[in-house]
Amino acid sequence: MIISGKDIAAQLRSDMQQQVDAMFAEYGRTPNLVVIQVGDDPASSIYVRNKMRAAEFCHIRSQYLHLSGEITEKELCAQIEQLNNDDDVDGILVQLPLPAHIDEERIICAIHAEKDVDGFHPDNAACLWLHQPLQTNHIASIYNPVPDYGCTIACTPKGILSLLASTGVELDGKRAVVVGRSPIVGKPMAKLLMDRQCTVTIAHSHTRDLPAVCREADILIAAVGKPKLITADCIKPGAIVIDVGINRLADGSLSGDVDFEACKDIASFISPVPGGVGPMTVTMLMQNTIDCYKRRQMKGN
Ligand code: NAD
Repeated sequence: MIISGKDIAAQLRSDMQQQVDAMFAEYGRTPNLVVIQVGDDPASSIYVRNKMRAAEFCHIRSQYLHLSGEITEKELCAQIEQLNNDDDVDGILVQLPLPAHIDEERIICAIHAEKDVDGFHPDNAACLWLHQPLQTNHIASIYNPVPDYGCTIACTPKGILSLLASTGVELDGKRAVVVGRSPIVGKPMAKLLMDRQCTVTIAHSHTRDLPAVCREADILIAAVGKPKLITADCIKPGAIVIDVGINRLADGSLSGDVDFEACKDIASFISPVPGGVGPMTVTMLMQNTIDCYKRRQMKGN
């Protein structure tokens, strides 16, 4: 069965409209997201536009700060500091990648962790790794797939938990294999699955016999960036397969990391590219903005 991230994202975004309207009724203010783009990278422009559109749909206010590609790291940090100190700003997102003369890690750290809607700040990453929230008794739903860590969780792995919840399959005790160990997808994904009581293996570029490792997976997450790396011989019959990869092929079309046609009849559930993880990532960015607003509101900001 195909997991439509597009449909699940649409459902979640409609729900967020109502959440935001209710917040406005209660507090007289809607969440406010500032999206910063440095330079004119065409792919970044598309991503930024999608995020602004999603915010508008969810009734979240958004501001677009388009800064010159010549801006210095110091000037960018000063801009961010101004937004950190602005009580009317709940979320700050700096679209990556940044021009080579700017240190991305320094910029991620410059954003106040409370306003870091991407969940990339070391305080948020540490919070995910150090805490193991108590499992709630109710089954995870697409609406609250992630136990409450009290901090911001990276959008892509968080969205994947919603996709997994949509299958209705119990995660407790399952074998999960995450292919890819990046700090924004693979690593947080592994921790979230561990906290959902899965037994998790992280595979990466030095893993030997990748197909054999993948075949152990009841849940296989591919986050590599190599088109069709995951072939039919990587799939255990009945596995759930989530494809994070976005790869532009020579003919201009998009491919995931999974050979979808070869794997779809072996898997019990599989997410497509496009229309799988991508729309969920943007949707979780909206949810993170709402959550940052709520946490700030509760602290009396
Ligand atoms: P990354 O380049 O930071 O990490 C890639 C990982 O893949 C590394 O950990 C590496 O060890 C591993 N790897 C490389 N070659 C391998 C191989 N042959 N076998 C096994 N592992 C291998 O990438 P990332 O930022 O995690 O992104 C991964 C992919 O997911 C990219 O295609 C990216 O565009 C996509 N992505 C999609 C979304 C979305 O919203 N859909 C979000 C983030 C990333």
